[in-house]
Amino acid sequence: MKNTFDSPLPDSNGFFGEYGGSFIPPQLQTIMDEITEAYLEIRKDPGFQKELARLYRHYVGRPSPIFHAASLSEKYGADIYLKREDLNHTGAHKINHCLGEALLCKKMGKKKLIAETGAGQHGVALATAAALVGLECDIYMGEVDIAKEHPNVVRMQILGAKVIPATHGRKTLKEAVDAAFEGYMQDPVNQFYAIGSVVGPHPFPMMVRDFQSIVGNEAKEQMQELTGGLPDNIVACVGGGSNAMGIFTAFLDDDSVKLHGVEPAGHGVEKDGDHAATITKGKPGVMHGFKSYMLQDEAGEPQEVYSVASGLDYPSVGPQHSYLKDIDRCNYEHIDDKEAIDAFFELAREEGIIPAIESAHAIAFAIKLAQRGEKGSILINLSGRGDKDIDFVVENYGKDYGITNRM
Ligand SMILES: *Cc1c(COP(=O)(O)O)cnc(C)c1O
Repeated sequence: MKNTFDSPLPDSNGFFGEYGGSFIPPQLQTIMDEITEAYLEIRKDPGFQKELARLYRHYVGRPSPIFHAASLSEKYGADIYLKREDLNHTGAHKINHCLGEALLCKKMGKKKLIAETGAGQHGVALATAAALVGLECDIYMGEVDIAKEHPNVVRMQILGAKVIPATHGRKTLKEAVDAAFEGYMQDPVNQFYAIGSVVGPHPFPMMVRDFQSIVGNEAKEQMQELTGGLPDNIVACVGGGSNAMGIFTAFLDDDSVKLHGVEPAGHGVEKDGDHAATITKGKPGVMHGFKSYMLQDEAGEPQEVYSVASGLDYPSVGPQHSYLKDIDRCNYEHIDDKEAIDAFFELAREEGIIPAIESAHAIAFAIKLAQRGEKGSILINLSGRGDKDIDFVVENYGKDYGITNRM
């Protein structure tokens, strides 16, 4: 298999064209430089690669299969395939980069992984990696989210992580980021801030992408085996953009493969605050230490964002996506709440697979592509499973889909 860690971008300062980089206070820059150096060293180390490969295979359950969705294909008239990241241990793609970050943290001699989490998915994946590798773990979470996402809070605690409530402001993700950042600044030497997507200052967009690129590397071989060639289209949802970069990276030089990133349109992209379609509606700007398209108000502050999928709810996007947009290598589309929920039930009822609402955005767009007359094959990155979303979906949409006998 092709070396996972083999890509010409970003440049040595972390830029993908004009995007990315590192816009942070000088004392933090010193720490980021150490992380970059340690990472560049470690990724060439055969011992590290072997250990990560062992965990991917025997702990996560990789390679994840590719499944030909025959009923969907027949119904919509294009060959639709699913890359089954939902079958990974912990139920999504996030474990791929959490394990890489945990191993790096341990190799650097640091004691504790920390992160913020919104719905708790990143927190659970990181707490899992921390337990496995033998590190302490602090997860910062807004008080409102702690009340809402009780099962994930308990999961993190069972795994031995400390869940630290963010109690100021609106007590959700943005405040959790603030609190985690404050916590990090108390002791950046012994702690490692494990960013949850291909965002943040250099080296995180590069590093998280590299750890996720296993997805596309596997998919390329699997599609060749299954179909004798490459897929004509690849579709992935885009929040921060890690599952999308994970499956896109292996195909960036294959011009015949069309790449589609799907952003959340929420209630619709016309009104600010109703969506989180960053590339579709945003402008270049700097936040959270990096430059990218972002949804910003007149003053350059991050806008309110909304999506039915909390994992897609982010006012910026990984800088490599902004670059791929500008050079026209990747097509960015958007799918609203209603279309995503329709696709959630469609996959469940046609294929017997309940997807995460995030992943349902990708499914919805793939169906649209087929309906538009696309005759070639479509490979969807099924980034996660829907167990976490079941109660919410039934409560809010069950009736529309014939689920009436709720107690
Ligand atoms: C977190 C999450 C996402 C969004 O994150 P990306 O970095 O854009 O991949 C998508 N799908 C699932 C299942 C998630 O948990």
